[in-house]
Amino acid sequence: MKRILLSIFLTFVILPSLWFLFNQFELKTPELNVNIPSKYLPKSYDMNLDITEKGTGLRKVFIAISQNSKEKVLLDKTYPRVSYSGFFFGSGVYDDKLKILVESAKYGMGDGEAILKINISDYSWWRWNNGNIFSIEQKLIIDTKSPEIEVLSKTHNINRGGVGLVIYRLKDNEEGVESGIQVGDIFYKGYLGMFDQQNIYASFFALTHLQGAGTDIYVKAFDVAGNMAKKGFYHYIKERKFKSDTLEISDSFLQNIMPQFNLGEVEATFDSTPNPLLSKFIYINQKLRPMNIEQILKPVVDTENKMMWSGPFLRLPASAPRAQFADHRTYKYNGKQIDQQYHMGVDLASLSRSDIPAANSGKVIGVDDIGIFGKCVLIDHGFGICSSYAHLSNISVKLGDMVKKGDIIGQTGLTGLAAGDHLHFAMSIDKTFVNPVEWWDPLWIKNNIDLKIAEVKQEIGKK
Ligand SMILES: [Zn+2]
Repeated sequence: MKRILLSIFLTFVILPSLWFLFNQFELKTPELNVNIPSKYLPKSYDMNLDITEKGTGLRKVFIAISQNSKEKVLLDKTYPRVSYSGFFFGSGVYDDKLKILVESAKYGMGDGEAILKINISDYSWWRWNNGNIFSIEQKLIIDTKSPEIEVLSKTHNINRGGVGLVIYRLKDNEEGVESGIQVGDIFYKGYLGMFDQQNIYASFFALTHLQGAGTDIYVKAFDVAGNMAKKGFYHYIKERKFKSDTLEISDSFLQNIMPQFNLGEVEATFDSTPNPLLSKFIYINQKLRPMNIEQILKPVVDTENKMMWSGPFLRLPASAPRAQFADHRTYKYNGKQIDQQYHMGVDLASLSRSDIPAANSGKVIGVDDIGIFGKCVLIDHGFGICSSYAHLSNISVKLGDMVKKGDIIGQTGLTGLAAGDHLHFAMSIDKTFVNPVEWWDPLWIKNNIDLKIAEVKQEIGKK
């Protein structure tokens, strides 16, 4: 009888109690996934917390930023105990996703070091019923000061479709600051490396053929903490008119050129149209063109912050211009307009298969066969300035080659969308095509680049 009572007692009282205590004293610390900046605390950012807890349930989440004796509590959330949940007496909350807006500039703290604390506890009876605690203490830097920009170059005369150079200094040499020139909605990065000083930047920027005198142009700098500075500079925009041109698309052109383009699956869609070859041409001219432009200019991310070139750029020798930069072309078929596009380079025709000299010294960063451009080469001259050569019959350089001004890089041809043997020569700054005429002009180079750099060097030397 005693033994039966004992086993009943064991089964219904002792074991459940042990089981209960075992669960109540669980050792599973809450887990946290959170985005905390590595060094600078942005002026304003969303802190996203993803909390999971596998034991008794969440008890408390506490988040604060402190600096010296000041503390700003960002969150103090308690999850109430529910009488019973599962095996536990806890909150029954096993995960939570929180989003907290952190606005360091509003807490009355000074720029400098601060500490971010996050504490998360559960309902375990460990630590005298304080629970398992997850905690982080992270040192961060509060930075509410915008970078300070000083423009060092003086005159900036910019032609529509042309290029400008701005040289500027960022006053305190803060880490991780991005800067450059904003021109309308296009941003051109500024680079160190033109000067020995580690806070003097050079930025070549373009005014596209479509941007005019009203375009907003300024130096822009933003730091890791999200502080932004803008600084205007004196500049004068010279308007420039570009030509209009009409191109008659003939059947023989379509028959000769279209078959060399293999567009894959899209091809089938042309078959159901009245003139499949013409439909194919319009597709290539409208849809493939922007994709090919993106492709040919893509390697510019590899540009070096070194001036690899000097003096005027070379033009294909003994050649006649066939089309100019930014010509507005209207395409006609049987006298009817079928398309219009801008021509973003200069077409130069010489004898067929003429040798093409590198326009200036630099590094070959693109060698490819790209749709409308055919066989083409992209040369980086440094600081985002590139020259490109299209429709080549043969390429005699390879990726990574260093070339000198005048080195032969290949021969002209009619690969891609070309009716006759010619060189399509283009100049670009970052992802914008610019007028090559400026780069062939020794006086323009001298006045807008060489003298400007020399002037700033002299100015710095005086200080
Ligand atoms: Zn062309």
